[in-house]
Amino acid sequence: MRDNFGRNIDYMRVSITDRCNLRCRYCMPEGARWVPMSEILTYEQIIEICTEAAALGIRKLKVTGGEPLVRRGCPELIRRLKEIPGIQQVTMTTNGILLSQYMDELLRNGLDGVNISLDTLDRERYAWITGSDSLDEVLDSIMRALESGIKVKINSVLFGDEASDEWKSLVLMAKERNIDVRFIELMPIGYGKTFEPISNSRLMTMIRQLYPGIETDESVHGNGPAVYYKIPGFKGSIGFISPIHGKFCHQCNRLRLTSKGILKPCLCYGEGIDLKSVFERKGEKKDDIRRAIRQGIEMKPEGHCFEKKESITENKNMIQIGG
Ligand code: SAM
Ligand code: SF4
Repeated sequence: MRDNFGRNIDYMRVSITDRCNLRCRYCMPEGARWVPMSEILTYEQIIEICTEAAALGIRKLKVTGGEPLVRRGCPELIRRLKEIPGIQQVTMTTNGILLSQYMDELLRNGLDGVNISLDTLDRERYAWITGSDSLDEVLDSIMRALESGIKVKINSVLFGDEASDEWKSLVLMAKERNIDVRFIELMPIGYGKTFEPISNSRLMTMIRQLYPGIETDESVHGNGPAVYYKIPGFKGSIGFISPIHGKFCHQCNRLRLTSKGILKPCLCYGEGIDLKSVFERKGEKKDDIRRAIRQGIEMKPEGHCFEKKESITENKNMIQIGG
């Protein structure tokens, strides 16, 4: 379905939990609280919402969280999402801790691709960012995913001065492997407001100094706003997702469904449509859900306002939204 600005909305990020086995400082630091399970959408409700979304033109789903793999039955949900008429692609974003354990089942159930979040290859910094000494598990999952032949992308958020050299080893991951390493600018959402982002333009300048041959990669890599580059001799590509310094709202194709069932038209604003409450009403829900999703698409604003922090109305943390 097209929104009021002519954009084709065909992609929905579906958060299935606000729980996580990590405590990334900019997302869900130590001490933050979970939402009770009774307030979280059931898998049945998620399937119903995605079915109606597909009827309105959503073709691609990204399962996210919290950490999606900590919710029991996640691989089975993937299978059911894949069966929805009209859905062409189901992918997942994960911190990678449990991925190798579930990889076979996820593949059998039709997972089309996986984004693994990894902000550093330095063991100490990894533990400092995430609160957990589990870098080895993540690296193991990356290798397992690559061996399986599924499309793998690494998502890295760089922040603070200490990260100024971080990119070097992350970029090198794309040298010998067919893997996209993508740098996402830290957004001023929730705890993200408390850290200094490293801009992708600054990062690109540093990468270009080391790899002057870096050039635009025109091939299509996915559903989103990433701009890709190739470094000569590298098997994989380097991507930049620059919500702050490279506003891409004119090509925004997405909706977000939070684990509590709020349909979010834009990451920047608190407005959303409460789809969970539709399930609390008596009678046939299908038409109400479809109407609410249509309304969500119509509510999409022309653009975000991350450049004007005082205009941001979203107060949730990223762990409640799903990235
Ligand atoms: N647990 C999974 C993971 O880490 O990939 C899925 C959920 S996590 C919220 C999804 C993505 O959002 C991660 O790549 C994470 O780094 C990113 N993220 C969290 N807070 C962010 C922020 N303030 N700005 C930019 N990206 C953020
Ligand atoms: Fe958990 Fe992902 Fe947030 Fe880290 S970024 S705390 S892994 S949800």
